Amino acid sequence: MAQNKTVLVVEDEKNIAEILRFNLEREGYTVLCAYDGADGLEQAQKPGVDLILLDVMLPKMDGFEVCRRLRENSDVPVIMLTAREEENDRIMGLELGADDYVTKPFSPRELMLRVKANIRRAGETPQKAAAPEGRTLRGLTLASDRYCLIRNGKEVELTSKEYELLSFFFDNQGVIFSKEDLMNRVWGYEGFCGDVHAVDVTLSRLRKKVEENPSSPEYIKNRWGVGYYLE
Ligand code: CA
Repeated sequence: MAQNKTVLVVEDEKNIAEILRFNLEREGYTVLCAYDGADGLEQAQKPGVDLILLDVMLPKMDGFEVCRRLRENSDVPVIMLTAREEENDRIMGLELGADDYVTKPFSPRELMLRVKANIRRAGETPQKAAAPEGRTLRGLTLASDRYCLIRNGKEVELTSKEYELLSFFFDNQGVIFSKEDLMNRVWGYEGFCGDVHAVDVTLSRLRKKVEENPSSPEYIKNRWGVGYYLE
């Protein structure tokens, strides 16, 4: 059972919000609900919220805008709820810093697994980050005490997922991983089908932050048809 974890549900369709609340409470979570984007953003900034389930189509402020504003000062895990057909919505959510997405209509069981996985990962990262110092590779330092890297003496902020991915590459320097490998190893969706789009999007964001010239990368390289590796 989830111990003392609080999930904020931001969803204007009350019946869906109630299904979410029912399933989350059954798993032991404390549940807060907001029925529009503005209220969602306000509640999201309260201390003690461990994860946010964020619908895209919301009155007052859409889910993308809520996510974008929230990411200005918060790392709380966000799972976007998107329409199945809207691939662009899923990619946009991830680009704005959402950690994950679930398409409607969703399977409550899968959604609960993702909630659990995202809360667990958010809790784990500080432990991993407790390593004594950052790791450095040719002028690039992955700071282990916060979500950032230092490139050319400048601090670049990373989302938790970007940090985990880069950290994974550092741990396995020179080893080539397919997108599916990365999905399984970094996102941890073994056992049910993850969508490798999340890998694509995070890789592309990470390259923009890591590489001088993302179209001709020096660090995160791609072997065509095989996968990605840190050189
Ligand atoms: Ca909606």
